[in-house]
Amino acid sequence: MKNLLDNILNFFNSTNEEEFYYVKMERNEKCYCDSGKKYKSCHYPDHQKRSKIAVRKIDEKTGEEEIKILSVKKLRKEHFRVRTSVS
Ligand SMILES: [Zn+2]
Repeated sequence: MKNLLDNILNFFNSTNEEEFYYVKMERNEKCYCDSGKKYKSCHYPDHQKRSKIAVRKIDEKTGEEEIKILSVKKLRKEHFRVRTSVS
C-alpha cells in the first residue's frame, strides 16, 4: 500500500514541474487590489458571481507570492496543492 502511494506521489511530482501551492484569500483579509477594503466587501461578490476565487500562489522554494484569480472548478481539480492557511 505504501508503494502504491509512493507511485502516485511520484506521478504527481514528475508531471508537475511547478513547485508552488495555493492559499485561498480569506474574506476578512484586505483585498489584493489595494483598495483598502476587505476582500468580502470588494472583489469577493463579483468573484462569487463568476465562480472565481482569489488565491495566493506561493512558490515553495522562494516563498514568493503572486495573486491569482482562479475558477472554483480549477481550484477543486488542483486541490491537492491547496493549503488553507499560510504555514
Ligand atoms: Zn478588490
